Amino acid sequence: MAIKITEDCILCGACEPECPNNAIYEPDTAWKFSDGTTLKDNLERQDGGFSDEFYFIATDKCTECVGFHEEPQCAAVCPVDCCVDDEDNRETKEQLLAKKESLHL
Ligand code: SF4
Repeated sequence: MAIKITEDCILCGACEPECPNNAIYEPDTAWKFSDGTTLKDNLERQDGGFSDEFYFIATDKCTECVGFHEEPQCAAVCPVDCCVDDEDNRETKEQLLAKKESLHL
């Protein structure tokens, strides 16, 4: 399951630098697979978790920190606990690890 940021976000930005996959973006920012990964896909996207109001997590880049850390780093640093499980995007540990490996070849 990926992590998502809820509307409780206070726009502090504490989570953004913590993500090993560069999956977290400021509001209203197009995300790219190539940001912070080894992928070459530079297409600017505004889907998959995009928000124009709050920081958001690009679902396709979130691995719940599997392969890097014991726990989701964004959730660990968020002062208002608004980085939560995304029930609509469930993945197994194996799928998350494969996703991590696909982002960092
Ligand atoms: Fe990034 Fe980890 Fe948070 Fe996912 S759980 S957005 S990989 S910091």
